[in-house]
Amino acid sequence: MRIHTALLAGVAAAGLIFAATPSAATDPALSAAVRADYDANLGALFDHFHRNPELSGQEVKTAARMAKELRDLGYRVTENVGGTGVVAVFENGPGTTVMVRADMDGLPLEERSGAPNPSRARQVDRDGVEQFVMHACGHDTHITGLIGTARQMMARKANWSGTLVLIAQPAEERVEGARAMIADGLFTRFPKPEYVIGYHVASSLPAGTIWVPPSVAYSSADSVDIKVRGVGGHGASPHTTVDPVTVASYIITNLQTLRSREVDPLQGAVVTVGSIHGGTKHNIIPEEVNLQLTVRSDSYEVRDTLLDGIDRIARNTALALNVPEDKLPVVVRSPTESTPPAVNHTETALRLQSVIAGQLGQERVLDISRQGMGAEDFAFYAAPEHGIKAVIFAVGGLPEDLKDTPPPHHSPLFRIDPRASVIAGVEATVAAAEDLFKTGAQAPAQ
Ligand SMILES: [Zn+2]
Ligand SMILES: [Zn+2]
Repeated sequence: MRIHTALLAGVAAAGLIFAATPSAATDPALSAAVRADYDANLGALFDHFHRNPELSGQEVKTAARMAKELRDLGYRVTENVGGTGVVAVFENGPGTTVMVRADMDGLPLEERSGAPNPSRARQVDRDGVEQFVMHACGHDTHITGLIGTARQMMARKANWSGTLVLIAQPAEERVEGARAMIADGLFTRFPKPEYVIGYHVASSLPAGTIWVPPSVAYSSADSVDIKVRGVGGHGASPHTTVDPVTVASYIITNLQTLRSREVDPLQGAVVTVGSIHGGTKHNIIPEEVNLQLTVRSDSYEVRDTLLDGIDRIARNTALALNVPEDKLPVVVRSPTESTPPAVNHTETALRLQSVIAGQLGQERVLDISRQGMGAEDFAFYAAPEHGIKAVIFAVGGLPEDLKDTPPPHHSPLFRIDPRASVIAGVEATVAAAEDLFKTGAQAPAQ
């Protein structure tokens, strides 16, 4: 969704060295096969997806194309899982179950990236408004890569044993799709994975590099609305009113203490009031003021501290400022714009770092730290209640010609190097999946 810039700033300059010793030998045949597939098939497929993006939850044609490609490769495909989601299964003998996830949606932007294949697509959105649509977050590289992975895993099926589940997920940009697919039986109607992996392209990392976060990959994100209520009246007679503008101001100020006084200074936490609206005129004290917040954290515990603290501070600030009991602030957490942090399973992440370094070369695996607090609904697959070992990694997509001015995600200027990022993504995913299938003879977790 919103924050892939998170991965980026300063990264290109940070150097690429990852010190672990690769555990897997490079497989030159895999590299060659993925490159050949890009030139024969995936390049054209990327071009198609890039020119034909669709909005979140409306990925109808994209999903149909994904289903067709996966069926043609020999997978058992189910469509319309959690909306437009696609699930492809290949049972290849005894062993564990590995799921690979890619997200499908584009964004309502008019492309000005200078790419040779710009999108001119338009689509009527949920509100009935026609929008330009653009793959401005790089999800077109993810779904192209999923087909590349599907082809390699099928071609290399003698190398591994187990059950492979590939999913094309809708509506990541609204952090709705992962939750919807799970609610529609992703882990009950289909083989439940022991591992789930996926990647996000990053426009600020050099094309073809990989970064595997050892723990937190993305922050939580929650949208919160606060309706501050008062008793309106004449601006010249404040003593006859309860002024919600003043109350809202103190609430905003007091919210700053959550991050500064209640959360460990070494922990990530953000409370941003991004919108404040109230009143109509200089000399009228209004009845209400509305605040819109985004709340970020890197752990389930800090997330609770922040969300509970917002409730407490809003209520008690209003009480202190004489707001009547029946007009205390109404605090609403969005049921949909809400995702926990995406926390990678550390042991698996370190293992995959090593495997990917073995396949791609150590110099292409970055040793960097997170920058910023972006969110990704991959977090729902990684949530502790499912007991799945989840790892999401980043694949660099920054084209050489843009290295001094990396275009941000969610910008009309967003452009990545599709060939380098798709090839790196597929190679890393296939190497990772094959290694995870070596996990042993244990049955898939149910
Ligand atoms: Zn995005
Ligand atoms: Zn994205």
